Amino acid sequence: PQTKLPKVGTTIFTVMSQMAMQHQAVNLGQGFPDFPVPDFLVESLARAMRDGKNQYAPMMGVPALREAIAEKTLACYGHTACPDSEITVTSGASEAIFDAVLAVVRPGDEVIVLDPCYDCYEPAIDLAGGVCVHVALDPADFSVDWQRLRAAVTPRTRMIFINSPHNPSGALWTADDMQRLIELVRGTDIVVLSDEVYEHILFDGARHESALRYPELAERSFVVSSFGKTYHCTGWKIGYCVAPKALSAEFRKVHQYNTFCSFAPAQWAFAEMIRQHPEHHAELGAFYESKRDYLRTQLARTRLRPLPVPGGYFQLVDYSAISDLPNAEFARWLCVEKGVAAIPLSPFYERPPEGQRLIRLCFAKNAETLDAAIARLEQV
Ligand code: PMP
Ligand code: GLN
Repeated sequence: PQTKLPKVGTTIFTVMSQMAMQHQAVNLGQGFPDFPVPDFLVESLARAMRDGKNQYAPMMGVPALREAIAEKTLACYGHTACPDSEITVTSGASEAIFDAVLAVVRPGDEVIVLDPCYDCYEPAIDLAGGVCVHVALDPADFSVDWQRLRAAVTPRTRMIFINSPHNPSGALWTADDMQRLIELVRGTDIVVLSDEVYEHILFDGARHESALRYPELAERSFVVSSFGKTYHCTGWKIGYCVAPKALSAEFRKVHQYNTFCSFAPAQWAFAEMIRQHPEHHAELGAFYESKRDYLRTQLARTRLRPLPVPGGYFQLVDYSAISDLPNAEFARWLCVEKGVAAIPLSPFYERPPEGQRLIRLCFAKNAETLDAAIARLEQV
């Protein structure tokens, strides 16, 4: 019998992390911080567990956390979301993405993704029976090619995925892009899935253009985020989805039977953290900006050429001065022979651009980790 996901193998993040372990490589591949979670959050989690917050949370999430998310959403983006009917806590952004797609995409519906894009989008669309339509971002700077995007919209388009700050490039959507998206979807029943997991990691004074800043988008969007990125705890797998009432109701139909609820003690901890330490997310951009700058300075000692990084915690580097290998092979060679794990870009594409010589390095790392990687990369 035909398998349901014939194109899917093991995700590149697992492949590269396993390879890094096997070859004792410095792992700048899979995106995760190697520094600790804030003490307050760990204490708060331990307290929640000691206080007996260990049974099922309400299906849509612990009320205190949904209220804290509503307060943060209002403070950051001026958007009022009702904690009872418009905010749902999920097991990471990944679950939220799956729930949203399964909730609204019917067999034969077209869903547009912008390549390169995060690798879980297409399988979610495929499982829903949708048709994944890949539209290439401008290969020069990963900005939106509006002509191509407009041309890809048809009467069967049900959903458009957007992602800013962008994984893997760090590119940002501008206010002008948001305006063009509003014009593109106006008068249609297209739903937007805005993946905003890096919402607090922007550099050089840039502003995050959340879909929630734009009422005309907010009224048709699933806005997905993840505490894993904001609080250095990717393994806790708590995220959330903000969507208008009607979309949230459909979303919750899937969520309630997919996981029912997410890890309860962490929900209590995040509620306290958001309310008592709003400076953490406010200062996250500056925190990562110094890591970005440190890595870029050190990369000058290698033959890797760094591309601009406006947001997120990934640095793309061009390795064409070193090798002419396609990027998956280059990443394997770099890991096995030179001891540095990176992520090749080809898995983020339906059709990787001919001759693209880019890999992704994660700089959510201690200086010692970055130094160890640079010491090896200098030899390459
Ligand atoms: N979207 C993007 C763009 C991501 O980079 C990630 C995490 N790597 C996710 C979604 C999934 O987030 P989570 O780990 O919270 O499921
Ligand atoms: N989002 C992370 C990245 O892009 C990986 C998440 C995962 O491993 N599933 O590296």
